[in-house]
Amino acid sequence: MSHPSLLPGQPHVARAEGALQVEGQALQALAQQHGTPLFVYSQQWMLDALAAYRRGFEGRDALICYAIKANSSLGILRVFAEAGCGFDIVSGGELARVLAAGAEPAKVIFSGVGKTRAEMRQALAAGIGCFNVESEAEIDVLNEVALALGKRAPISVRINPNVDPKTHPYISTGLKGNKFGVAHDRAVAVYRHAAALPGLEVVGIDCHIGSQITESDPYLDAVERVLDLVQAIESHGIRLHHLDFGGGLGIDYNGDTPPAADALWQQLLARLDARGFGERRIVIEPGRSLVGNAGVCVTEVLYTKPGEEKNFCIVDAAMNDLPRPAMYQAFHRIEPVLRREGVAAVRYDVVGPVCESGDWLGRDRDLAVQAGDLLAVFSAGAYCMSMASNYNTRTRAAEVLVHGDKATLIRRRETIEDQLRTEMP
Ligand SMILES: *Cc1c(COP(=O)(O)O)cnc(C)c1O
Repeated sequence: MSHPSLLPGQPHVARAEGALQVEGQALQALAQQHGTPLFVYSQQWMLDALAAYRRGFEGRDALICYAIKANSSLGILRVFAEAGCGFDIVSGGELARVLAAGAEPAKVIFSGVGKTRAEMRQALAAGIGCFNVESEAEIDVLNEVALALGKRAPISVRINPNVDPKTHPYISTGLKGNKFGVAHDRAVAVYRHAAALPGLEVVGIDCHIGSQITESDPYLDAVERVLDLVQAIESHGIRLHHLDFGGGLGIDYNGDTPPAADALWQQLLARLDARGFGERRIVIEPGRSLVGNAGVCVTEVLYTKPGEEKNFCIVDAAMNDLPRPAMYQAFHRIEPVLRREGVAAVRYDVVGPVCESGDWLGRDRDLAVQAGDLLAVFSAGAYCMSMASNYNTRTRAAEVLVHGDKATLIRRRETIEDQLRTEMP
């Protein structure tokens, strides 16, 4: 790329003569062509993130299953399917998506605490690689459903290792008080029960402790606790063919310093080697860290509104497009798409048009902008479009995938007709 990288962790974003680009494509031009709000993704960023994972596992039997709830758009899934990834899904709808994107069913794993019988049947018919079961009750239901279809369901039990991932409480999942997984001290009994059921085939063990993790220690502690269980379970003659250590690696939103994927997985492998599990098949389920910083959301400034206590910069993207600030008080970096001369920077709260005080995208941002200007909201690749809603009967944004000198529309802007189609007045 001819211009120096603008943001840490986002080498695909640059400014050329003041104008923001993604992989050399001007955001201003893309917004003119496709309208706003518009998500723009860099394919190269995703492939580079994937390559870091693969470097970490070089020479090992490892399967990377992209956790699609981070961004489940078909155009994104296709990139990972073509790169040979597996997928981690959490619903029958997500199964339909990965199959439509060309996933190999054997590389699909199905997580989630509330799988329905219909979803189990759908996944068994597709021939997925593994059900990550999350409770004792689910084990019995899956056994019944599989027997009724004359099949055996491959399973792994999700262990709740009771470690604190040191992240936002809403995205921590491996503590005793969370709804996820089977308690560590129930695990051996649960495995013995599952192994005796004719409709199930025990194939692995898994854990996933949370999201936006920026420290290695909780991960590695969870690994040790899972390995303790592997030894205990296998002492009962139950063989665990794969070890799945979940996802959750963080990204740099605003000076965050998550461990690099390759470095973290080297540490993990060292632990496995030390305990004699180095040859075992490893599965991981990264979501955010494969897409998060690939994406930018371009939005237009509709109005600036000075106030006594706060100045507001009102933009055409809102909490229905970018839900993370409203949901988790999350930070997204925001910058003007074009650098504007002759307008003084003002401290703004950047807010959307939705009728909620929680509808903000950034607080106390110094921006030199006026109505009609475009802003780029960074780190918008993960948990944005996949969480987008129609609240306030807003239509969902369009998405563009940039790859080399091409920019491809991978989702057209939703229309009001799309929204009304399912309703009967
Ligand atoms: C959400 C989720 C992931 C992915 O988490 P990221 O933080 O996006 O990497 C992986 N596994 C399971 C079971 C999940 O629920």
